[in-house]
Amino acid sequence: MEKIFIDPGHGDIGKDFGAIGKDGTREADIALSIGKTAKTLLEKDGYKVYMSREKEMSGNPLYSQSLGDLPYRTKAANDAGCDLFISIHCNASSNSAGNGTEIYHCPGSTEGKKLAKAILNEVLYLQKVKKEKHKTDKALLKLWDFTNRGVKEGNYYVLTDTDMPAVLCETLFMSNPDDLKLLKTSEFQTAYAQAITSGVNKYFNVKPVEKPAATVTGKYSDLIKKYSKHYSLDEKFIDVIIQQESSYNPKAVSIHNAKGLMQLLPETFKGCLKALKLPENSDPFNPEINIQCGCYHLSYLKSIFSISKGDNSRSTQLLIACAYNEGQNTDGMKYAREVIGRMKNG
Ligand SMILES: [Zn+2]
Repeated sequence: MEKIFIDPGHGDIGKDFGAIGKDGTREADIALSIGKTAKTLLEKDGYKVYMSREKEMSGNPLYSQSLGDLPYRTKAANDAGCDLFISIHCNASSNSAGNGTEIYHCPGSTEGKKLAKAILNEVLYLQKVKKEKHKTDKALLKLWDFTNRGVKEGNYYVLTDTDMPAVLCETLFMSNPDDLKLLKTSEFQTAYAQAITSGVNKYFNVKPVEKPAATVTGKYSDLIKKYSKHYSLDEKFIDVIIQQESSYNPKAVSIHNAKGLMQLLPETFKGCLKALKLPENSDPFNPEINIQCGCYHLSYLKSIFSISKGDNSRSTQLLIACAYNEGQNTDGMKYAREVIGRMKNG
């Protein structure tokens, strides 16, 4: 599951509320509103979302008061091992004519640039949709007719001190009367949050994950029952693994090309098919085959660690869940095998 860090700019972290509009609107509040909507939408698409701020900082488990404002933000994202960092701001200029939208990435970062382009393209797409929708409303049409200022390089702290591809979105200008009017509408704020979400999806090249219906677990519960029993695994454990890996989306594909309900990597899937004497060309998206292979793989991991088949203690589940996730990282498994091998040899 990819982890996205959403950073609404400014706010009560450093008691700095950013640019202030002529009418007293605060940049920090608009950034937070867009950020919170983006969080909801990204979670719907199956991402794990971290926020630099969401409520009073004392209530944010990531917040460390001893760090300064910006170092706190980047450290929180780095420590959480996030895959992407997205900072949300509004622009300002001493010249009130300046208007439009732009996105910054760290100089020289090709991945940052790719993400910036992906989000900006979605902003421009939604701008087109809104202009079409409001084509008979001259006043609204004028607001939506903002300038595309493009993708740019910027030496911002949150871009240079983050370990993952990072962008800083300058949504629109607080200092431009038309931009400010539009920034304040929930229509724009929602559209921008949608653009962030589809941009992230495009970046990872995945189709949006359809939120599973509440009954989906029921649909696969017979398969979970069958194969957890067959491989002496805990039914609830398999349920949680599937929730965690694919949110019960049988068509899910990760950036590492892990597929289906139990998110099996192509190599792992191939190995399971072979061991189970199933046809080589079996479909990884087939729920039955996927769950069978996933359960087999978990029992295989138990055997690697010399754990008895029926042992489903909490510590065993913790160990094999870690090993299961390490499937993406063969070095991790190699290391674990070496440690176990040395222990056996005394
Ligand atoms: Zn700002």
